[in-house]
Amino acid sequence: MKCDTCHREVPEVSRVVIYVGYNKAASKAMYNCPECFSKKEQTKSYHQEEAS
Ligand SMILES: [Zn+2]
Repeated sequence: MKCDTCHREVPEVSRVVIYVGYNKAASKAMYNCPECFSKKEQTKSYHQEEAS
């Protein structure tokens, strides 16, 4: 898998969804490595999609 933020090949990525405001139709799914994920998580603009 490839991280969409740093573009490194990583064994495991987290699927994150960026919500643009409250418009879910404009939300965008990305794959981030754990390092980028934790950085993005601190910005509070990313939300990890819950497995269902
Ligand atoms: Zn990354």
